[in-house]
Amino acid sequence: MQNCLFCKIIAGEIPSQVVYQDDRVFAFKDIAPVAPVHVLIIPKKHISTLEDLNPEDAEIMGHILVTASKLARELGLEKGYRVVSNCKEEGGQTVYHVHFHLIGGRKMQWPPG
Ligand code: 5GP
Ligand code: ZN
Repeated sequence: MQNCLFCKIIAGEIPSQVVYQDDRVFAFKDIAPVAPVHVLIIPKKHISTLEDLNPEDAEIMGHILVTASKLARELGLEKGYRVVSNCKEEGGQTVYHVHFHLIGGRKMQWPPG
């Protein structure tokens, strides 16, 4: 989608530190990490928010979580980690292309702020 930051990252128009990609998902390091490991996992298909998901997106969303689990293993997060997706203004979403944060390498707090 034009003017979407993450679509531009997927297309390589904006550089990123790619961690993993396949035909459906793209994973790259967050530019402002909040923990020693902070990877964003996104669908290659543009979906603006979790609110916009349709039943046909179930497979890709499941694939994103399976990818998060695989990357967490590969990145050595055997002590645990957090997977977060922020939705819209009150959820704290700032980039309107659905993404999951894979965050780890330190003890997390709960509840979030
Ligand atoms: P949100 O706040 O929408 O849940 O998450 C957006 C994330 O994208 C933030 O953690 C932010 O640091 C990250 N981000 C914003 N712009 C860029 C960028 O140009 N490159 C990368 N790698 N991450 C970005
Ligand atoms: Zn997009």
